[in-house]
Amino acid sequence: PLVLGIETSCDETGVGIVRGHTLLADAVASSVDEHARFGGVVPEVASRAHLEAMVPTIQRALKEAGVTARDLDGIAVTAGPGLAGALLVGVSAAKAFAYALGKPLYGVNHLASHICVDQLEHGALPEPTMALLVSGGHSSLLLAPDITADVRPLGSTIDDAAGEAFDKVARVLDLGFPGGPVIDRWAREGDPDAIKFPRGLTGPRDPVYDFSFSGLKTAVARWIEARRAAGEEVPVADVAASFQEAVVDVLTRKAVRACKDHGVDHLMIGGGVAANTRLRAMAERRCEDAGITLRVPRPKLCTDNGAMVAALGAEMVARGRNASAWDLSADSSLPVTDPHVPGHDHA
Ligand code: ATP
Ligand code: MG
Ligand code: FE
Repeated sequence: PLVLGIETSCDETGVGIVRGHTLLADAVASSVDEHARFGGVVPEVASRAHLEAMVPTIQRALKEAGVTARDLDGIAVTAGPGLAGALLVGVSAAKAFAYALGKPLYGVNHLASHICVDQLEHGALPEPTMALLVSGGHSSLLLAPDITADVRPLGSTIDDAAGEAFDKVARVLDLGFPGGPVIDRWAREGDPDAIKFPRGLTGPRDPVYDFSFSGLKTAVARWIEARRAAGEEVPVADVAASFQEAVVDVLTRKAVRACKDHGVDHLMIGGGVAANTRLRAMAERRCEDAGITLRVPRPKLCTDNGAMVAALGAEMVARGRNASAWDLSADSSLPVTDPHVPGHDHA
């Protein structure tokens, strides 16, 4: 099926077009530069930027894909989770667009989309899929027997998300926003073993599949403060590399453990943090050692984009899932266990 997907849950206005597992267009307009001076995403600024970027981004995607809107088999849109006002812009646009064209509308889950996008890279997801979802707002291990209908959380962060930790540590180091990509770059010049930062929730009595990054974030901040108080220079590259190593070590260790415990021979990693160079390298090595096939999409498909929404929408169409009702609304806290927001039964 030929499906257009719209993503506006945070600061990226994404419009993607896919045919089944084939990526045809991936247009993204980001308002990240407008948020940078505030050190984080400002919801009102994001909503306004989505409004301005929506129509041009849809047009750009259609042109890039070389298809016309009439050819589409469905319109998918992120219904949640995310920023309420930002989501509302995408949902309203998708509804208007789908209604005007007489096409079915699919309100889908942003987190399930971060996983489903891998079908564009590596083909059909295995069933069940074991996924490590690591993004700005979430860090979870998920077992999905069916990405369109059945997603089960095995564990998740009990405090900060992995991406949030990257962003906060970057702020303490005065590296700007968003922190993930810039820490990734600095870390390449640093020694990952220079400073031994804590690995949260890895003790023998700790929950096996849950994560905690808040203690790590505090430990990094304290370490830096102590240096500054002593009038010593902060070795930015070493701090970045050592912090990143602590995050990546825990993520990959627990993900491989989950695969082994559940007898699953592959691991999918999705979400913005999956773009991290060190995470990709360590996951590759540890999966290989454990006989697990690793599936990670190219970095551009890991961070927010419209193609991931289209990918999940196409899967909904292919599996004959119910379209969403015309009164579909955005749900800022849509649970990961709801891959889509179905319609009411109307006769
Ligand atoms: P969610 O998906 O939970 O709703 P989000 O959509 O805001 O949150 P994503 O776009 O999936 O998050 O990911 C953004 C996060 O990914 C940010 O925290 C950013 O710092 C992080 N990130 C992006 N690139 C990298 C990288 N190379 N290394 C580490 N983190 C990264
Ligand atoms: Mg973003
Ligand atoms: Fe996201």
